Amino acid sequence: MYIRDTIAAVSTPPGNGGIGIIRVSGDQAAAVGNTVFTSVSDGGLVSHRFSFGTIRDAATGEMVDEAMAVYMRSPRSYTREDVLELHCHGGWLVVERVLALVLACGVRLADPGEFTRRAFLNGRIDLIQAEAVMDIIASKSEAALQLAQRQREGALSKRIDEVRECLLQALALVEAYIDFPEDDLGQTDEVAIAASVDSAQTMITDLLATFEEGRIVREGISVLIAGKPNAGKSSLLNRLLNENRAIVTHIPGTTRDIIEETISFEGLAIRFLDTAGIRHTNDLVEQEGINRTMEKVPQADLILAVFDGSREFSQEDQMLLDALAECRIIAVVNKSDLPQRLVLPAANRFLATVMVTALSGDGVDSLKQTVCRQFLHISATDSREFISLSRARHRDALVSADVYLSRFCAGLPERNLELLALDLRGALDSVGTVTGQTATDDVLDRIFSSFCIGK
Ligand code: GDP
Repeated sequence: MYIRDTIAAVSTPPGNGGIGIIRVSGDQAAAVGNTVFTSVSDGGLVSHRFSFGTIRDAATGEMVDEAMAVYMRSPRSYTREDVLELHCHGGWLVVERVLALVLACGVRLADPGEFTRRAFLNGRIDLIQAEAVMDIIASKSEAALQLAQRQREGALSKRIDEVRECLLQALALVEAYIDFPEDDLGQTDEVAIAASVDSAQTMITDLLATFEEGRIVREGISVLIAGKPNAGKSSLLNRLLNENRAIVTHIPGTTRDIIEETISFEGLAIRFLDTAGIRHTNDLVEQEGINRTMEKVPQADLILAVFDGSREFSQEDQMLLDALAECRIIAVVNKSDLPQRLVLPAANRFLATVMVTALSGDGVDSLKQTVCRQFLHISATDSREFISLSRARHRDALVSADVYLSRFCAGLPERNLELLALDLRGALDSVGTVTGQTATDDVLDRIFSSFCIGK
C-alpha cells in the first residue's frame, strides 16, 4: 500500500562524518525546506539548485547549523515525489537535531528502504533495479559492483520484459480463440503460439543457466578451510588474508560463532567461513574437529582440504576426506618447502591439487586463481554484456514460470484453450514478480525491509 504522506530520514551512515544528509520526500518537502532552512540568497529554494544557508529551530529561532539544501521538484527526483536534501555537518548530534526539526514539521520517519520503495511504486525503477540499488551499496568486489550496476541500468529487466512480451503475444492469441469459441485453433496460430512460448522458454532456460555464476559474483565464493591439526590451515589463512591488501570485511557473521573474512581477488569476493572456529581445532580431539568443520559445510561453495606434504597420508586425512565425500574440494598440499612424503590417494577426486608453502606464500596466488576458475566460466568479470540472475528470488520465479510453460507445451496438442490460458497466465504472473508487476505487498515488504533506513 502506498500512503502519500511525507517521509524523512538520515541518509548518511550513523556516526560522525564530513557531512550528514537528511532526506525528505513527499508533498510537504518544499514547505519543510522553507520552515527549517533559510537561504543566504534571495529567492529561496529553486528546484535542482543547491543553496547555502542556515538551519534554524522555527520555534526558538536558534541557529542549529549552516547547511546546503537542494530541492528536487517531482517528477525529477529519486522517488519521483518532491524531494528535499539538507546537507549539514556530519556529527551525529547535529544530524539528529536537524532530523528532529524536520519531523517537527509533521512528517513521518521513513521505514527502511522507503525512498526506494516509492521510486518503485511511482514507476521510476522496477523491482530488479531496486534490488540492484541495494546490491550496489553492499558490493564487496568489482565484479559484484559491475553486475549490480548493469542490473540497475536495466539490462536484466529488459530481458525479462522480452520474456513477458513473448508470453503476452501467445496469451493474446489463445484468448482470441476463447472469445470466439466457434473458431477452431488454426494451424498457423498454433505454430505462432508454440513459437512464442518456445522463445520465452529458451530465454528463461538461458537465464537460469547464469544463476550460479551470478550468485557467486554477487555474494562471493564461500570457502571452508579444512584439514588435520598442524597441516597449516591457520598459516594458509593468514597468508590468504595478509597477502591481499584489500581485506574487505572482518565482521561477525549472522550466527554467534561464525566469523567471516572476505578478500577481493581478481575482482571477485572470496569469503572464508568460520575461520576462527577452525583455527582452534588443534585443541580438540580429531572427531570433534571434523564435526565442527562439517557444521559449516552446507554454507560452503568449496572446501580447501589442507594436507601436510611433509608427512605421509594418514588415517586422519582419510577421515576428513570420508566426511567430505559429497563436497567440491581443492586439495592444498602445504609445506612444499620440506621434503615431500605425501601421496594423495584418488587425486581425481579433487577439482584441482595445488602445492603451496603457507610459510613463505609460495603458490598462494595460484591457489586463489584456481578457486576463482572453478566458478567463472562465462567470465562475468570481463564481459559488460553478461546478463545474469543473481538472486534466488529471481531464479525461483523463473523456475516456477518454466513449470507452467512445460505444462502448457504438454497440453497444447489437446487444445483445451481455457487450461492453456491458465498456464500462460501463471507463467506471466511468475515472471512479473521478478520485475515487480505482479509482486504482492508481502514480497515488497520482505525486499525493502532489508534496505537501510534513508535509502
Ligand atoms: P593448523 O593447525 O592446521 O592451523 O596449522 P598451523 O598453521 O598452526 O601450522 C602448524 C605448524 O606448521 C606451524 O608450526 C607452522 O609454522 C608450520 N607450517 C605451516 N605452513 C608451513 C609451511 O609451508 N612450511 C613449513 N615448513 N612449515 C609450515
